[in-house]
Order: sequence, then C-alpha cells, then structure tokens
Amino acid sequence: MMHYRVGDIEVITLVDGHGRAPNALFPDYEADRAAAAARQAGEDYDGETVEVPIHGFALRHGGEITLVDAGAPDGYADTTGAYLDSLAAAGIDPAGVTRLAMTHLHVDHVGQMADAAGKARFPNAELFSGAGDWDHFFGDAPYAATRTGGRERASFDLTRHACRPYADRRHDVAGETEIAPGITMLPLPGHTPGHSGIRLSDGGETLLIWGDTIHAAAFQMAEPDWGVLFDVDRAAARATRKRLFEQLANDGTPILGPHVPRPGPWRVERAPIGYRLAPL
Ligand SMILES: [Zn+2]
Repeated sequence: MMHYRVGDIEVITLVDGHGRAPNALFPDYEADRAAAAARQAGEDYDGETVEVPIHGFALRHGGEITLVDAGAPDGYADTTGAYLDSLAAAGIDPAGVTRLAMTHLHVDHVGQMADAAGKARFPNAELFSGAGDWDHFFGDAPYAATRTGGRERASFDLTRHACRPYADRRHDVAGETEIAPGITMLPLPGHTPGHSGIRLSDGGETLLIWGDTIHAAAFQMAEPDWGVLFDVDRAAARATRKRLFEQLANDGTPILGPHVPRPGPWRVERAPIGYRLAPL
C-alpha cells in the first residue's frame, strides 16, 4: 500500500488494477511518435496496446475519510477488481467515509459506489462532482445519443447505477471550491463537462490529483495533443491538458492520478519531446 503525506493529510492509493487499452483509443495516434514517446518515458511499446492503470485514493484528514474516485465496476476487465480489497487493506470501513470527491463520473471512477443491488456502499458519504457531470450522465439528450446495446450506453447505465443512490446527497461543485479543510476541487473541463482536479494543501505542502488529464503516460506526456475517444469535448480536454502541463512544469506541484503509473507522486518536467513524469 502506498501512503503519502501532504501536511497532515494522508493520501493512500487504492489499487483497482490495470488494463491494456488499444492504441486506437488515441485518435491522433501515430506509430513512430508513440514509439518515441514510450522510449522517452522508459516504457515498453508493443504497437497494439498501452498500459492504463486504474486506482482511486483515500484521504485521511481531520479524523475524516474522503475518497477520490471509487474503482471500476465488477467485471470491467480481467485485470481489475481489487478496489474493495484495497479499501479493506487500508483499514477503511465504508460506513466511515463521509465524502466522495469525484474527478468525474465515468464508470472506471464510480464503479464501486453502489453494490450489485444498487445500494450505496458508502451510506454516510456525500457525493461531490464537478458541475455538469451529473447532468451529462443523467440527462436525456446525451443518453439518447448513445446507441442502444452499444458500449457507451452500457457505460452510462453503469454510471447511473453507481451514482443513483447518492441523488439526494450530492453536490454540483462549480468553480474552485474547498469541500473540506485543505481539499479543493477545481475545474479541468473537457474529458467530461465537470471533470475536476482535487488539490490538497496543508502545512505549506500541495499536491494535485489531476483526474483523467492522461490515460497513458507512455504516450500523452510527450504528446499532450493526444486525447482519447471518449473525451466528451476533445478540444477542451486538450487545451486543459496543455495548460496544466505547462503550469505544473513551471510551479513543480506534485501530481497523482487515477491512470498515472504508481507509485508517484510525480512532477511534470519539460523533455526533449513534450514533457515527462519525473519522480519526486
Ligand atoms: Zn478514467
């Protein structure tokens, strides 16, 4: 288990697993550039698929527990499904979780919020998500735009199943908002309408959990223009990613992310090709 401290805030990485995404997930993918990017990152390149880790985070702060994201749903991939075991191994009782601070409501981030019967797994937790995400995933129009029986429709259904039990205790977070002392949600729009970062600040230290700013470090650190097929607004996601890389390379704020390689935390550095993640 990996623990970090940001002042008095303890950050625990809760591993769910990992998957191999097809390189075609990146619409701008070019084999030569991908190979060079992976080489710079010190990662293997196989020409077909790329590693996408999946994890969430638990924050212990002021006697409370906040979860940042909550794993993929059962059966998401052969190599995922460890989230609840990771939670138990961290000694976290689901009933003791008071906040769910979501980077966004895609299914690999909300998957374990409800059990198979649709009951809240965190009965005492309030749900915080960036303004626009709930409306996107529960709105009629985006749902109707997905194909019946298709993968995207199934993904909407899974998100709805996981989030519905929190409908009467949820908060749309607009702009930069401190949701608990030292824990601030901030908009990083594009990947989803309400996609957010979670900034931790305590005792003069800062760390940013940057959500799905990247899915594959091997490609996107060097190629920040590359988004993913399921970016809701790919141009906005690209602009957010490039702005953030530049800002982080300048200010040196450490980062973690649900799809960032472990163990971290990392700093963003300028590199011969674009940027790279450097250990602290
Ligand atoms: Zn994701």
